[in-house]
Amino acid sequence: MPKRLIKKIKGLISGDQGKPTLRVIPRGEHHFPEEDIRRNVHIVLDGLTDAGYEAYLVGGSIRDGLIGLHPKDFDIATSATPEQIKAVFPRNCRLIGRRFRLAHVRFGREILEVATFRAGHGKAEDNEHHSAQSEEGMLLRDNVFGTLDEDAIRRDFTANALYYRHTDGAVLDFVNGYEDIRHQTLRLIGDPEQRYREDPVRMLRAVRFAAKLDFEIETKTAAPIRELSELLGLIPPARLFEEVLKLFLGGYAQSVWPLMLEYDLARWLFPLSVPEVNDNAGVQTMIELALRNTDNRLAEGKPVTPAFLFAVLLWGPLQKEWLRAQENGIHAAPALQKAIQKVTAKQAQHTSIPKRFGLPMREIWELQGRLDQRSPKRCESLVQHPRFRAAYDLLLLREEAGEIEPGLGEWWTRYQEADTDEREKLCQGLGGSKKPRRRRRYKNRRRSTPPNS
Ligand code: ATP
Ligand code: MG
Repeated sequence: MPKRLIKKIKGLISGDQGKPTLRVIPRGEHHFPEEDIRRNVHIVLDGLTDAGYEAYLVGGSIRDGLIGLHPKDFDIATSATPEQIKAVFPRNCRLIGRRFRLAHVRFGREILEVATFRAGHGKAEDNEHHSAQSEEGMLLRDNVFGTLDEDAIRRDFTANALYYRHTDGAVLDFVNGYEDIRHQTLRLIGDPEQRYREDPVRMLRAVRFAAKLDFEIETKTAAPIRELSELLGLIPPARLFEEVLKLFLGGYAQSVWPLMLEYDLARWLFPLSVPEVNDNAGVQTMIELALRNTDNRLAEGKPVTPAFLFAVLLWGPLQKEWLRAQENGIHAAPALQKAIQKVTAKQAQHTSIPKRFGLPMREIWELQGRLDQRSPKRCESLVQHPRFRAAYDLLLLREEAGEIEPGLGEWWTRYQEADTDEREKLCQGLGGSKKPRRRRRYKNRRRSTPPNS
């Protein structure tokens, strides 16, 4: 039977034929905070509407606004093609993307994303050069333009498929997203398995939104995730890196991590770390503490660096490899280099870490081996090291998680607070540099022993 016919029959069976019904929630019946819409967003919406096109706000901003958060990124969906958008904003519009072509309209430092309505797959078959799917059913290109209702049903979750119409303040809903939001339910549009196969990243988005919004993942949406999680292996490591940043730097990392483990997603992002997490309670504790600190820092408006986060997430496997190399007779410092090499090479096949974070991550690790070499001269140069603070934070986490005896962290805390004379005394109290080299190496090794090994 021809493929297209099979699809049509499947569609009839699952009842997804025909147009989705539209529910209009008028202004006054919903609580979308219209005052949060920035001036530039109005300029784009008005520009497109005045030129005769349809234009709406859509996606995360509407969802967040409806649940009482302040919407930030305003994504715009329109009936205008990318070229038509450019014609409306000739001076400040740039067309970008291949896999998903869209327009960026720029106002100084602010960039607004404007996407043309897309159609789903049935239509894609007739437009082979605009859309493409891999053998596994994954969407490689998604540039088939469509109508508003088609655009709604090709989105991922019902909560992400609501449109705000600026001309009358109404919210348009084709997929019962408004009710799902009211019931704090995250529901994939269409057949979950097919939608995950089209784009496996949707599985990561499911746990991310569940954590961020405190929504329940609806049963059918949740059901296939564990089994399909391996499809994440098909996603380019660079895209996964971007997703990892969104997962951990959104301010809800401590809620998203347990979900990533529960749904067996973490393993495809951190294949070396997850077995360590399962085997060693200390590794899990350390990650949880780091994620909690990350959330707290973000809540206080403090900066966080992915380098530190990755240093912690990969510390378990790194430490294991480091120890293993030392047990094979390699000295601590070269053993650490060997371990770093091994762990980063394997990690790069899954979630790649760009150099600007990978290099500082290595330095944070390398400093772990130097923090207990406390001669006055070394201490002074260590505290000056640009990565000292992060390395010290990692040391505290290792102590807090019970990997190493407490003491060294406290010593460094006192050292940082001390003046020059006191620093000298702190070091002398240890006998610091007088220790023989071999002994220090041995000490390093002992410090690296996990609690349950
Ligand atoms: P946030 O910006 O808070 O992470 P968002 O929902 O705005 O959440 P974006 O990645 O900015 O997420 O995407 C904007 C919208 O585009 C989504 O709300 C959704 O409607 C649609 N979308 C994004 N990614 C996908 C995807 N992988 N599959 C289907 N639709 C998607
Ligand atoms: Mg967004």
